[in-house]
Amino acid sequence: MSLIPCCKCGKGIKKQGYRTDGVVCNECASKPKLITIELDSFKDEPVVHFRGKRIKNIQDINFQWFTDTDEPGDKKIGITYFDLEEHVVKGIKEIKM
Ligand SMILES: [Zn+2]
Repeated sequence: MSLIPCCKCGKGIKKQGYRTDGVVCNECASKPKLITIELDSFKDEPVVHFRGKRIKNIQDINFQWFTDTDEPGDKKIGITYFDLEEHVVKGIKEIKM
């Protein structure tokens, strides 16, 4: 039996079938993603999940990502949304420098 590395954490996992690239272990596969933004067309409201939680009634999304290949760059996520239960505008802001 041969093991191949998980493409996220590098842990050895059992090779299944012929696929060897982009394979993730069960641990990494079940971990919620930091953010997903899905947009079918410019007319639609984006479907956003942040740390596994669906964010609804979005007013504003800002997402910036720069490559680390030359100089380390900032990664910024900003989401403004309306909380219908509390009737307040809330925000999520995370910056990784
Ligand atoms: Zn993994």
